[in-house]
Amino acid sequence: MEIRFDGKRALVTGAGKGIGRDIAKALHKCGADTVALSRTQADLDSLKDECPGIQIVTQDLSDWTGTRNTVSDLGNFDLLVNNAAVARRASFLEYQEKDIDITFDTNFKAVFNVTQVIARGMVERGTGGAIVNISSIAATRAFNSACAYAPSKAALDSLTQVLALELGPKKVRVNSVLPTGVMTDMGRKGLSDPDMVKPFIARTPLGRFAEVEEVTNAVLFLLSDKAAMINGTMLPVDGGYLAN
Ligand code: NDP
Repeated sequence: MEIRFDGKRALVTGAGKGIGRDIAKALHKCGADTVALSRTQADLDSLKDECPGIQIVTQDLSDWTGTRNTVSDLGNFDLLVNNAAVARRASFLEYQEKDIDITFDTNFKAVFNVTQVIARGMVERGTGGAIVNISSIAATRAFNSACAYAPSKAALDSLTQVLALELGPKKVRVNSVLPTGVMTDMGRKGLSDPDMVKPFIARTPLGRFAEVEEVTNAVLFLLSDKAAMINGTMLPVDGGYLAN
């Protein structure tokens, strides 16, 4: 099954590192005119060196007004991947207000903000579009030290469903992808404790974490016309963890 995005314009947030970087590279390879937005300039510069055809944009998504201005200036898009997130881990009794705020500002409010700007353009042009939100299996299962991260992803999935309902009639599809652990910078920080990893893997029927590319493939599928009838779904990329 070949997936192509020739003639489409795509925006990927959090594209400096990890999963977002891989998604941006894959979209570019599949023919999309791709814009990679992230926070650390050095990451974006190295992405540009690797793929000169990708447009890079530096923006801290936790800044509501700055983000709105930056994204509005980027013009119209057919495809959007809301990938950027933070995972500030601490036990519930130790958790600080500033960490709740940064978690929800980045993982939920920024998605709301970016999507409102981009979806408005999709609807006004009447050409429709496809949006994928990168959630997590933590949205639906409890994990220690995820007392803000997990609720932020649950809120994100709820947003996915509401947007699927509101924007579907306007030809904009919205779906979530829910990865299990992936050994990116975020994954390595959260999955370093063998006492946590062992039962996690034992509960996963396929017996391993996901590769970055396996998440990217699910995203490409949902963005593509091959998924033309898929809207408002939560697609786990989890080796069966949620089935167990
Ligand atoms: P990484 O931490 O490796 O990369 C996240 C990227 O998002 C970085 O480029 C980061 O930039 C950027 N980013 C974070 N905050 C902001 C911000 N405020 N403004 C702009 N850019 C920002 O994470 P992953 O690649 O692992 O995660 C990608 C997605 O997958 C996330 O939504 C995550 O929740 C989800 N996920 C990841 C799992 C895993 O185990 N890795 C498991 C399940 C879901 P910078 O480095 O400059 O902060």
